[in-house]
Amino acid sequence: MSITETAPSPTSTPEVAVIGHWIDGALRASTSGRTAPVYNPATGAVRAEVALADQAEVDAAIASAQAGFEQWSRYSIAKRQTVLFAFRELLNARKGELAALITAEHGKVLSDAMGEILRGQEVVELATGFPHLIKGAYSENASSGIDVYSLKQPLGVVGIISPFNFPAMVPMWFFPIAIAAGNAVVLKPSEKDPSAALWLAELWKEAGLPDGVFTVLQGDKLAVDGLLTSPVVQSISFVGSTPIAQYIYETASKHGKRVQALGGAKNHMLVLPDADLDLVADQAVNAGYGAAGERCMAISVVLAVEPVADELIGKITERIAKLKIGNGAGVDGVDGVEPDMGPLITDVHRDKVSSYVDIAEADGAKIIVDGRDFTVDGHEDGFFFGPTLLDRVPTTSRAYTEEIFGPVLSIVRVESYDEGLDLINSGRFGNGTAIFTNDGGAARRFQNEVQVGMIGINVPIPVPVAYHSFGGWKQSLFGDAKAYGVHGFDFFTREKAITSRWLDPATRGDSAHGGINL
Ligand code: NAD
Repeated sequence: MSITETAPSPTSTPEVAVIGHWIDGALRASTSGRTAPVYNPATGAVRAEVALADQAEVDAAIASAQAGFEQWSRYSIAKRQTVLFAFRELLNARKGELAALITAEHGKVLSDAMGEILRGQEVVELATGFPHLIKGAYSENASSGIDVYSLKQPLGVVGIISPFNFPAMVPMWFFPIAIAAGNAVVLKPSEKDPSAALWLAELWKEAGLPDGVFTVLQGDKLAVDGLLTSPVVQSISFVGSTPIAQYIYETASKHGKRVQALGGAKNHMLVLPDADLDLVADQAVNAGYGAAGERCMAISVVLAVEPVADELIGKITERIAKLKIGNGAGVDGVDGVEPDMGPLITDVHRDKVSSYVDIAEADGAKIIVDGRDFTVDGHEDGFFFGPTLLDRVPTTSRAYTEEIFGPVLSIVRVESYDEGLDLINSGRFGNGTAIFTNDGGAARRFQNEVQVGMIGINVPIPVPVAYHSFGGWKQSLFGDAKAYGVHGFDFFTREKAITSRWLDPATRGDSAHGGINL
């Protein structure tokens, strides 16, 4: 499956492919004259340029989606379901291709790329059962001779704006449900890894989705603003950093749209003294360094309730020493096995992560394992950053208060459960958190008292299954609709309530004869 078109671009050499849009059921080369580089983060090489839409392309994408909506929303439930099942089967059969594409542009290891596809596939599978989730309700004889019932209808054209860290899964949190419910989607993927979205678009076409129902608009702020302000676009589903999530929420709301805008995170793992420290160390390493820490549900702070910190640091350090870091696409340089961790997304992001370690150090944190200046043999130009472990990070340091989004795990020592809980609750994010303990009562108290949207009990990354919903609290989610699950079906449908009176043919509605009587 080819997802690039070579087209002349003022900013690219002729041999570099330009990744275009997917409009009207086909790849479209951009005419905007604007592009951005797409890297292979493991090698540091530019693998392609991606088109950045201009306003004319934004308008074309939205117009095509509106035409797609008019057709698709008239499809019967049974016909829509056939397309969804076909998409699910194709995805299941061909997901290896998608995983390779994700790794090539994002850098995460192949098994992790496959993991994100499987979590997205869960939502596709949920969406295949959509008839049950979008059916209305009926109350017969609510008043004499009067029935009241409700319908759930699609919104129309819906916009999805996604981040770089899950180029397949995050769009799949939304589009299977949006499409199942009868909407047409315009997806604006991250310009850092834009190819997964096009691959998914081709798959929809093969599954029989009519042209225009799934559109991919490549671009930057101009494309995003075009979606936020268009009177045709009915809703925005956004996932990304908190400042942009807030901007999206405010701007799209001002333009009368339904908005769900999921933002950043700073997830804490609270370790009580009775916890199994080997389990904690295993889970902290997986949740802190998996996908190089570029997960919104990554654990970035371990709150160690004393006296466990020293022992726990010893166990985490032993495990870090065994981690293999390398090209996520292969086995080269790492003893013939898949690495545990790949590179960061760009050199700019790597330098930002590094600067947070500098800040922590300057603020008095102790560096236990230092990932700065880390290189992988044979991949000297790749955007690698080694796993980093910090101890005694001051809670006033920006390294503690801000999201780092890299393989940096901070230990903060606390004296009690209450001190740990207060730290979690005083933060501005509320995406995920976890408690590790063997005390069921303490865990139960934690789930009640912690002000966070998704909680793990001896589970480090508590991403809910597709039939529950995903979303944080506070600055991790602007709006009141979480992603997928019942929230997803509510978000992508509008309800109508109908109050209806049909006269009884026997009495012609005459109340004296037992007919209408309000
Ligand atoms: P980002 O905010 O930089 O970009 C997200 C999207 O917004 C991209 O499509 C980008 O093109 C667009 N964008 C960027 N700047 C913009 C601007 N000024 N105006 C309009 N649009 C703009 O985020 P990212 O770096 O791609 O992703 C990482 C962030 O996403 C992290 O903060 C992470 O925590 C967060 N994230 C959150 C969740 C969640 O569920 N809460 C899930 C995944 C990622």
